[in-house]
Amino acid sequence: MSNLKFSKNNTYTREEIWSAAGMSGKQEFNFARTGYGRIDDNVFAFINIGFKGHAEKIFENKFDEETETLIWYGKKKSHSQQPLIRNIIDGEYNLYCFARWDNTPEFRYLGIGKVLDYKDGASVIDKDGKETTCIRFRLSCDDKTASHSVISDFDESFEEGLPDEGTEGRKKIVKHKKIERNTKLVRKKKAIFKKKYGKLFCEACGFDFKNTYGARGEGFIECHHIVPLHETKKEITTKVDDLALLCSNCHRMVHRKKKWLTLDELTKLLKNGGAPTRT
Ligand SMILES: [Zn+2]
Ligand SMILES: [Zn+2]
Repeated sequence: MSNLKFSKNNTYTREEIWSAAGMSGKQEFNFARTGYGRIDDNVFAFINIGFKGHAEKIFENKFDEETETLIWYGKKKSHSQQPLIRNIIDGEYNLYCFARWDNTPEFRYLGIGKVLDYKDGASVIDKDGKETTCIRFRLSCDDKTASHSVISDFDESFEEGLPDEGTEGRKKIVKHKKIERNTKLVRKKKAIFKKKYGKLFCEACGFDFKNTYGARGEGFIECHHIVPLHETKKEITTKVDDLALLCSNCHRMVHRKKKWLTLDELTKLLKNGGAPTRT
């Protein structure tokens, strides 16, 4: 149910969005009445801009037509550690943004919002006039914007040899990173791995986030695509077997230099403590 076909700037009622998402019958409460509802991996945001909606409070939601940047306040008491919000930030869920500027049933489709940044604890006034807090997002609805998680990964882990903006090589690296972070495949890989070994750990060094970080580390591991897409000419479809689970340290070392390491090379480095090997 990915890639739902909505046309930018067309208007849709909640009802129409509900059925476009493949649902029938009565809308779920969140979907029908609140600021956002989720169906599988898709979150639908219904954003009131500049007037009071059902919740009878004004959030300072804003949309800049020029840059397609959206300022969006989550529900009361929402914050970045809640699973749904976390998945939006990590790009695990598609965030379909619909907005309206008055109290009509139609919302204008703005696009899929990519998180540029967010702030916990933004203060808002609830319907009783009391101050409360929620998360505030800055989103880009511009199709050309890669998600925040992809971009920030570049800065930190591709220190050398990142091709120029707009070049084919860079696009392929973007694609590579997208596969590693965003797809269902990653979840499938983790599920298969966990079923097989009973836990998640780094395939190179054995690091287990849960062992070290307890509940906070549970379920966390990075996914590495072992085929460097930017080095292959042909189009390939990614299979679960093309993915390896790595801890953040190992993953970073793989990508740190222009020539990415293979898993074998990485394992060898670890065995030798990084010292040059004598043959
Ligand atoms: Zn590792
Ligand atoms: Zn990787």
